[in-house]
Amino acid sequence: MYLFKKNQDLQTYLNQARNQGKQVGFVPTMGALHKGHLSLIEQALQENDLVVCSIFVNPTQFDDKTDLVNYPKPVEKDINLLQQVGCQVLYLPDANEVYPENIKLIDLDLNGLDKTMEGAHRDGHFRGVVQVVHRLLDIVQPNALYMGQKDFQQYTIIKYMIQQLQLTVRLVRVPIMREADGLAMSSRNIRLGKQGRTKAALISTILFEIKERAKEQQDLLKLKQEALLKFQAADMSVDYFEIVDANTLQDLKHWKEAEEIVACTTVRVDGVRLLDNILLKS
Ligand code: AMP
Repeated sequence: MYLFKKNQDLQTYLNQARNQGKQVGFVPTMGALHKGHLSLIEQALQENDLVVCSIFVNPTQFDDKTDLVNYPKPVEKDINLLQQVGCQVLYLPDANEVYPENIKLIDLDLNGLDKTMEGAHRDGHFRGVVQVVHRLLDIVQPNALYMGQKDFQQYTIIKYMIQQLQLTVRLVRVPIMREADGLAMSSRNIRLGKQGRTKAALISTILFEIKERAKEQQDLLKLKQEALLKFQAADMSVDYFEIVDANTLQDLKHWKEAEEIVACTTVRVDGVRLLDNILLKS
């Protein structure tokens, strides 16, 4: 695997590959890689000639600076995992490469997509995400970009950005990888205690139950109430649980109001914010 820290070295290498007609797939990450990240890389490997994974803990998307400082950075372990899975290129820049002085960052109006759910809890988070993904796309110039359904709002916002800016990159949404008990894989799961880890599995249990119930209950306000009661019965602290249109991220009242419907939630366990979602209609 090639490891590039400088934009110019990466770009020289990728230009050669493109001149040979190679299709480039790109998987941006913040490292502390797990099987969820690797599933994005595996899918990208199947669909492209060359896969670039980036590891960059983007400071502009952290509203909580202690979260940024505490973010795990097991780079050696990540490199091993990437090699095992067959990733060809790791791009590991420092902040000066991504944000050199005088660089003009994009400031796109996200049409309210950034105001709901995670956006309502994390001020400026999605502005930072859009800035970094836009900047990384500019550097890597991939044919295809792979993002996880796990961060559904992030995926939808990046889809919107690509449409608005008429970028030619193909965006691919990769399904959520889960642990055996259903918990969505996340770099944050290691911060859970033993009891918290057991409790955390209930999040997906409830989401799967709600998906089952949606076959009969098409009043989505009632369905949401049912979900909230289940979380309450399990004594779980819910930041939000919303049933939304997958494109607009606006709340829905009825099953017939949208083509694609997703239930998104963030629950706190042991002080750790755990995100999960499930497609109810697709
Ligand atoms: P992160 O390093 O948290 O920024 O995640 C990098 C990419 O991996 C994002 O597109 C995430 O949505 C995706 N991802 C994170 N966890 C999972 C998972 N459990 N299954 C699939 N994709 C995931």
